[in-house]
Amino acid sequence: MALSRSEQMSRIHGEDTSPERLLCVALSQRGLAFDAHARTPVGRPDVVISGAQVAVFIDGCFWHGCPEHYVRPRTRTDFWSSKLVENTTRDRRQTAALELQGWRVVRAWEHEVFVALDDVVSRVVMAAQGGPVAHEDAWRVFRVDVLDADTDLERRHLVTLRDPQRETVVDAKRTTTKWKVPSPAAPPGSRRRPVVRLSPHNSEE
Ligand SMILES: [Zn+2]
Repeated sequence: MALSRSEQMSRIHGEDTSPERLLCVALSQRGLAFDAHARTPVGRPDVVISGAQVAVFIDGCFWHGCPEHYVRPRTRTDFWSSKLVENTTRDRRQTAALELQGWRVVRAWEHEVFVALDDVVSRVVMAAQGGPVAHEDAWRVFRVDVLDADTDLERRHLVTLRDPQRETVVDAKRTTTKWKVPSPAAPPGSRRRPVVRLSPHNSEE
């Protein structure tokens, strides 16, 4: 995915405010030993705690169908639709395969890392200590049908990763709020929580 200029600059200046980086810093502060993108029997999750067999995935709100922030694109709809199905199918397969091999899989939404970092950290720590994995990731958008193009009414099909039988639909107006990566970046080493903004978004602009 292409980076905006401010994102490029913040990478260059070492002010990486990606959700992966924020989570890794927070986990280090809790004294947790982990590896980023280490190999597991099923791919390379964002955070891996090999000893405790914990895999952590940070799912981008758009790419993985966050029920709060998925914005249905208006152009190249076939491409984006199949992308969403593809990603969800892979997430489901990955999660199931890891859990089948005794791994604990924590999936967090990108926005959770920004607005509820402590909660995400707690879930990872709990999983690392052998506790149950909370499934806050439960519903995700799998498909969106346009019901009425004039009023922007759409039908969102939501599924869960762990139970293929579960599915629900929500009729709503097309989302116009999009997750926005916080800016400006906190200074390196700062523990200040980033400012979070949900800004109106229109893909035609
Ligand atoms: Zn989200």
